[in-house]
Amino acid sequence: MGYFFQIRCLYLKRNQFRKYIVNNPQQERRFVRPRQKLVELLRDKGIKDHQVLSAIGTTPRHKLVDTALHHRAYTDTALPIGLGQTISQPYTVAAQTELLEVKKGKKILEIGTGSGYQCMVLCELGAEVYSVERHNELYHRAKEALRAEGYRPLLKAGDGTLGWPTYAPYDGIIVTAGAPVVPDDLIKQLKIGGILVIPVGDNKTQKMLKITRVSETEYQQDEYDNFKFVPLIGEKGWGENQ
Ligand code: SAM
Repeated sequence: MGYFFQIRCLYLKRNQFRKYIVNNPQQERRFVRPRQKLVELLRDKGIKDHQVLSAIGTTPRHKLVDTALHHRAYTDTALPIGLGQTISQPYTVAAQTELLEVKKGKKILEIGTGSGYQCMVLCELGAEVYSVERHNELYHRAKEALRAEGYRPLLKAGDGTLGWPTYAPYDGIIVTAGAPVVPDDLIKQLKIGGILVIPVGDNKTQKMLKITRVSETEYQQDEYDNFKFVPLIGEKGWGENQ
């Protein structure tokens, strides 16, 4: 047997073993309890919507982080996903989703696909999901991860500060990066009665806003807690050097 053939066999065996470890049902079962504990924690922290809690309880967050971070996948913290970006903290995802008042069949636009976690939670709630990510690499990675788990949102790579006019208007728009101001394109792409949930502030802290389109020209704005997000970078957001 040639040397290169032996090396290739070893490489294949190692990959098969890794695949087995990652997808083995017994291995999967070890995430069930931590995920339930996370749901209990979010309930204790004030998340009330049962459907949101149940969606968090079924969404496989560990599939979206590096295997080296699997032990932290169900802790209530943001985790790195590369390119200086993060998978949002579960509490933040739950709080934003609760404000968005998602119902089955509602058309929701997400700005900032990132890992795809928020997207998965919206799909679990039965929404028709559209999501935009500015980093090509994250867009491709999220697309693959979502497909592998059987989720079918429509994704695109691009500047989400301009929304996604092709499929507008939306019942809800959720922005998962911190904006300096509310991009006017986003509120224009809301249906009447539609809700925009967006963190707005400086580069240290942002206030969560819920903006409801009351009529063709009127909007109601409600303010919630402070959060800390990575910056929303784009034509109607922060400049490139944030
Ligand atoms: N929703 C993501 C998740 O569940 O993993 C959170 C990702 S992270 C907190 C915010 C994301 O917004 C990053 O992936 C970042 O690249 C993206 N982002 C920033 N500015 C953007 C823009 N103008 N359009 C689209 N995505 C943007």
